[in-house]
Amino acid sequence: MARQVRELAGLVYEFGKCRSYVFEPDGGDPWFPGTEVPEDLEAQAGKACAGCPVIAECLEMTLQLEAELPRQHVVGIFGATPGHQRLRMLDVRRAQREDEQALVEAGGGAR
Ligand code: SF4
Repeated sequence: MARQVRELAGLVYEFGKCRSYVFEPDGGDPWFPGTEVPEDLEAQAGKACAGCPVIAECLEMTLQLEAELPRQHVVGIFGATPGHQRLRMLDVRRAQREDEQALVEAGGGAR
């Protein structure tokens, strides 16, 4: 069974690399870079989260939290992944859920 947000958040907030990041004045935010170029965001995502011990947990937590958000709110870098990549992941998950639901409904109708 998939871990739930609360358990994932506990791990992310305790062990996440960004928790102890010291922001430099005028140094910007590595997790919210000032670019919208997909390739640059992807490269920055790899750098910002490199070495973090809870990348998988952070990504799963974020996807669960963002699943119900408006698409324009899926921003920033979490789990070594920029928002546009998470939107694709969320679309895939949604399509899988719909397929599974259709299968259940088809099976239920065959009785
Ligand atoms: S994966 Fe990235 S955003 Fe998530 S806790 Fe680690 S450093 Fe922070």
